[in-house]
Amino acid sequence: MGSIADESEDDASLLDADASSGIHCDTCAACCCRLEVLLLTDTGVPGHLIAIDAWGAPVMARLEDRWCAALERQTLRCSIYDRRPWVCRELEMGGADCVAARQAFIEE
Ligand code: SF4
Ligand code: SF4
Repeated sequence: MGSIADESEDDASLLDADASSGIHCDTCAACCCRLEVLLLTDTGVPGHLIAIDAWGAPVMARLEDRWCAALERQTLRCSIYDRRPWVCRELEMGGADCVAARQAFIEE
């Protein structure tokens, strides 16, 4: 998981700045950072970035724009990269969840 920008008519170009190079976090709007991220292990996520979901489970907090509260909006980088949740570590660039998150973003 990596890296947001304003949702706009340029969404598609944000995701495909260089189509010839394929999927890469450097040319992505951090689509996966809009997904709910369950905190399954303690990786040291700061308390102010943790929320409780509808089922009572701890998750990464998200802001009104729907992106994770830990995402740096200017750089589209994770501000807690070394302490990011296990779920974020496991999500594979170009993998099924990555592709699905990017597609969902485009279709909105
Ligand atoms: S959706 Fe995929 S390409 Fe985009 S930031 Fe996440 S892992 Fe990287
Ligand atoms: S913790 Fe970091 S990598 Fe995980 S969703 Fe939030 S910004 Fe993205």
